[in-house]
Amino acid sequence: MPSLLNKLLGWLGLAPPRLRCRREVWNAGVAELERRTLNGRRESGAYLLGSNRPDGSREISEFVFYDDIDPAALATGIVTIRQTALPRLWEVCRSRGLGVIADVHVHPYGYGQSESDQANPVIPRIGHLALILPNFARGRPLPGLIGMYEFLGDGRWASHSDQGSRFFKLEA
Ligand SMILES: [Zn+2]
Repeated sequence: MPSLLNKLLGWLGLAPPRLRCRREVWNAGVAELERRTLNGRRESGAYLLGSNRPDGSREISEFVFYDDIDPAALATGIVTIRQTALPRLWEVCRSRGLGVIADVHVHPYGYGQSESDQANPVIPRIGHLALILPNFARGRPLPGLIGMYEFLGDGRWASHSDQGSRFFKLEA
C-alpha cells in the first residue's frame, strides 16, 4: 500500500498497527523486566520474538530476556549486547520458529533514546523496532507512554511514540 494512503488510514484509525501483542504476554513480560531491574538498580531488556501477520503487522509472542541469553548483559547496569551472545539467540529463534521482530529495554526516567541506543541498534536491520519503557517499567507502562523507534539505517531513527496504540496494539 502506498505510504501516503497508509498514513491517511492511520489518521482515520483504519490502518493495521505495525506491532501487536496479546495483553497477557505484554503484561507478564513488562512485569518480568521490572523485576530484573532489581528495584531500579540496573536496566533490563529483552528481544521480542514473533512473526508477521497477513495484514502486514508483526505480532510479539515471546520475550527473551537479555540476561537469559548472556548472563553478563546487565552486569554494568546498562544493557550491553555482545555479539558472542547471538548464536544462542538464533538457536532460540530456530527452536520456536520465530524471528526477532523488535527489542525492548527500560530506562531509569524518560523513554527517549540515548546516544548509545541510537548508535547501537540491537538488530541493525532497516525497519527494526526498538521499544523503551520509562521509570524502570514501574506501573507497567502501555503504548502511548513508552518510546517506539524504527531503525532507518545509517544511524537514523523515526519515532512513533506519539502514535500510541495506533502503532502498537494490545489485544485480548
Ligand atoms: Zn537505552
